[in-house]
Amino acid sequence: MTKKKKPMTRSENMSRVKNKDTKPEVYLRKLLWHEGFRYRINYKDLPGRPDIYIPKYKAAIFVNGCFWHIHEGCKLSSIPKTNYDFWKAKLEGNAERDKKNYKELNDMGIKVIIVWGCEIKEMIKDEKIKKNMLLKLIKSINGISDAYRYNLEKYER
Ligand SMILES: [Zn+2]
Repeated sequence: MTKKKKPMTRSENMSRVKNKDTKPEVYLRKLLWHEGFRYRINYKDLPGRPDIYIPKYKAAIFVNGCFWHIHEGCKLSSIPKTNYDFWKAKLEGNAERDKKNYKELNDMGIKVIIVWGCEIKEMIKDEKIKKNMLLKLIKSINGISDAYRYNLEKYER
């Protein structure tokens, strides 16, 4: 006997996407592990509980869903038209909290590195893009590139 699953509402679906072990995070983790990085995951002792924290390089990596964290200019980021005010307040609240956390981390001397969900999608799709992005990401972790560093100056203004 097969039990029919109730179709999920949009918000139920979204809350699932928000789960701790969302696929993009796991994907990136595996890549970094393979590159020899050792890290803590969902590190509670730091502001914003970074998805990946690499103590050796003092690098906090956030794998941000484009919808939940408002990826500006990204087609995966938009405020739903239904319950517009609710979503606007919620998503903008998320983004504000993110910025506060990033600033705190920065003040602690920790590199803040943001990887967007859409970027992970590109990596999964295309081997060349993957290699390219991974290289830039590693350089950002090492501190030789700012490619994936969160731009705090932009926030300050
Ligand atoms: Zn995006």
